[in-house]
Amino acid sequence: MVRLRRVALDAAAAGLFVFPVQPGGKLPAVPRHSAERCRRRGICAEGHQGWEQRATRDRAQICRWWSGDASARFNVGIACGPSGIVVIDLDTSTEPLADWGGATTGREVLDQLTARHGQTLPDTYSTRTPTDGEHLYYRMPEGLELRNTHGGHGHSLGPLVDTRAAGGFAVGAGSVRPEGAYLVAEHGRIAELPDWLATLLTPPPPPEPRRGEPLVLPTRRANAYVAAILAGETAAVEQAPKGQRQITLLTAARTLGRLVGGGELDADNAHALLLDAAAVHIGVDEFTQVEAERTVARGMAYGARAPRRIDRRHTPPADEAGDGVEGGEAS
Ligand SMILES: [Zn+2]
Repeated sequence: MVRLRRVALDAAAAGLFVFPVQPGGKLPAVPRHSAERCRRRGICAEGHQGWEQRATRDRAQICRWWSGDASARFNVGIACGPSGIVVIDLDTSTEPLADWGGATTGREVLDQLTARHGQTLPDTYSTRTPTDGEHLYYRMPEGLELRNTHGGHGHSLGPLVDTRAAGGFAVGAGSVRPEGAYLVAEHGRIAELPDWLATLLTPPPPPEPRRGEPLVLPTRRANAYVAAILAGETAAVEQAPKGQRQITLLTAARTLGRLVGGGELDADNAHALLLDAAAVHIGVDEFTQVEAERTVARGMAYGARAPRRIDRRHTPPADEAGDGVEGGEAS
């Protein structure tokens, strides 16, 4: 049965990293031992190699894996991290979701979320699972490192909507389970993950541990310090490349939000600064004003929960003369 080997080779030729999944199943078939049982030999000499490390595009390795009577029946696992993709996994449920207008599918949840954000989803390669789920494939934007999310938990997109990224995999089209086959639903290229989805899937950084003492600086240095943060964050937003615009704006909003929380900045000023910086992107490649405002509000609210306080040490009046944000001691 060379069919599944063909499937694996085709996936690799399309740029995806593959590994064997149990015949008729959906669990990895490599490695054969767990990390705990690893004897640090052979391929594991430098450290245990799990399915994510072993996933490959190498034709010879794929032919070795998918050969022989038994192993040729391996399903095809696609390792999302090495492949540089994010797979949105849409499930179904028999329980209508009250918060989502009685939706019973991840597809309905995603469509509602998309409409709520005033967006449309780009056409992209997708598959249908044997249990009527859908897998939407997207390219990971340059420089972004997303991990898996689980529907309805943490910063996931919503119930019945999982995402598979670094640390995750999808069972590829052509694979079979007792319930049926994984089929290509939409042929064609894998589109880049839209900015707004990348933003929603980016976990907030853990708030820094509250230290007992605020940052103590002489007034002049404190002002320069704040000015340097403002200049740095707004420049980062202005210069953010496509694919990282929302993330950069969100990060800047969190940083400024912390200063607002610490009483260093006025909330309205910070908001206006951020939107000014983002203005160069608005209307370009589907980056909308509404989305920018939403991102700023979200980031600032988050940042305000981990306030950055600066204690202005008393300095003699002479030293404070001419004090201003341009005093060049920015650290
Ligand atoms: Zn090992």
